[in-house]
Amino acid sequence: SEHHFSDFDKLEVLGHGNGGIVYKVCHRPTAALYALKVLHAGDPQSRRHAAREVEILRRAADHPSVVHCCGVLPAPSGDVAVLLELMDSGCLDSLLRRRRGRPIPDRALSGIARQALLGLSYLHSLQVVHRDIKPSNLLINTAGEVKIADFGVGKIVRRALDKCVSYVGTCAYMSPERFDPATHGGAGYDGYAGDVWGLGLTIMELGMGRFPLLPAGERPDWAALMWAICFGEPPAIPDSDEASPELRDFVSRCLQKEAEKRWTVAQLLEHPFVAGKDRSSSELAVRELLLDSVCDSS
Ligand code: ADP
Ligand code: MG
Repeated sequence: SEHHFSDFDKLEVLGHGNGGIVYKVCHRPTAALYALKVLHAGDPQSRRHAAREVEILRRAADHPSVVHCCGVLPAPSGDVAVLLELMDSGCLDSLLRRRRGRPIPDRALSGIARQALLGLSYLHSLQVVHRDIKPSNLLINTAGEVKIADFGVGKIVRRALDKCVSYVGTCAYMSPERFDPATHGGAGYDGYAGDVWGLGLTIMELGMGRFPLLPAGERPDWAALMWAICFGEPPAIPDSDEASPELRDFVSRCLQKEAEKRWTVAQLLEHPFVAGKDRSSSELAVRELLLDSVCDSS
């Protein structure tokens, strides 16, 4: 790449997690703004993780609904810096917090769901399983675009029968078959259906204004959560919540506990909640949502 680490000025921290720290940066020679994700690569395990994230980005980041990777540069002390297009409205997790629990209305939510599905459809066609679909990994910009980010625990499916059981990252959005492959259709499990579960739970959370599987304000009991995901009823929007029949049905198709019964991304793109929308009307609905969400923080 023609980019050099020393040509970037760090402006602010956009986020940090397991993978590393993400900065908003300015490329001094051109004054262009980017996000720069600095991945730790000091020890062999983090080097392997960083290499996998970079491999997936190189393979898969060329779609309007996937955050574009503009280059990979060596960083000080052996770290790896990934230059990403800047998503200037942040992630859906922070958007929801800005709204202080106010649910996202259907019009915008279906635009979000549709764009996320288009991104997933692209990834799955390249045999990439994301494995960490959740609000903090879906980013938005002021153009109203929604893009999938963070391939920190992503996976390239090489063998059809690869078992994708692992406990990286948060388990709150993990599907039943990842916890318990034997009883939830995990045999022959390739992981694609796990992304649909994560999307279903994400859309449900955005549509309810709160994470549906944990009581608000309490310290999460992860064991109880995992038990509920595996052995409880499938998550559904409570009757007491206001939600359209289309949204309820969409979410229920994503949150089938048996991986084989869950709809695929291709099927979901035909679902009435998201079907028949073009990209520009999806983006317009998300732009309206951004305006509507600014008011809350004032
Ligand atoms: P982690 O592995 O730490 O979760 P992510 O890639 O998800 O790393 O980035 C962490 C956070 O940084 C995201 O939740 C988001 O808020 C912010 N972020 C990441 N990439 C971008 C980007 N391209 N533009 C704007 N914000 C970003
Ligand atoms: Mg993340």
